[in-house]
Amino acid sequence: MVTARAGSPGTIVVVEDDPHIADLVGLYLRADGFRVLLASDAVRGLELVGQERPRLVILDIGLPGPMDGLDACRQLRSASDVPVLILTARHDEIDRVLGLELGADDYVTKPFSPRELVARVKAILRRSTGSARAAPEILVVGGVEIDTGRREVRVDSQVVALATREFDLLAHLASHAGLALSRRQLLDGVWGPGWYGDDRTVDVHIRQLRKKLGDSLPLATVWGVGYRLG
Ligand code: CA
Repeated sequence: MVTARAGSPGTIVVVEDDPHIADLVGLYLRADGFRVLLASDAVRGLELVGQERPRLVILDIGLPGPMDGLDACRQLRSASDVPVLILTARHDEIDRVLGLELGADDYVTKPFSPRELVARVKAILRRSTGSARAAPEILVVGGVEIDTGRREVRVDSQVVALATREFDLLAHLASHAGLALSRRQLLDGVWGPGWYGDDRTVDVHIRQLRKKLGDSLPLATVWGVGYRLG
């Protein structure tokens, strides 16, 4: 992780082909002190992320060229755990769900208020710094080892790659092992009380954890409540 200059909240890469939206987002983020780098296609966006190591990426799903935002999200996730906020068309639920499954941390639907976007960005950054600051410990649940210091998950000593929010959800469940937590409690605990998303977000991430960790993860669905680990 690259530390931002003192006094600066850091760099954000915005990948958006609509110049009006890109400029507006840039304007609001810069007003909040962020350094903003714009890319109008996914290839350039990934290049910028590789060169600049931003604190966060804002990624439009509908991008021109050979690679759309979902492809870019997939590539980002295979290479880094930089938080990703996706921009999707209002009624395109498929894109939202796919984006979250690919490891995006949050989404904003167009048209959006730039203020809301900035609030979401800050919330994501607060969460990622918060978890990095927590006292490191290693939690073991079933066959899964969760190293909160290194933000690493291991099964049979092999590291399993998880998206930022998947890791946070798993760590949250593990620190409440044996307790049934409702989707609302999980949203509040992992995404933060200011998060506007719905219960499906939790289900999508749970599905990813089950897919990636398989039988090693003793995660039960508690009917009418939510989920329980261990
Ligand atoms: Ca677009």
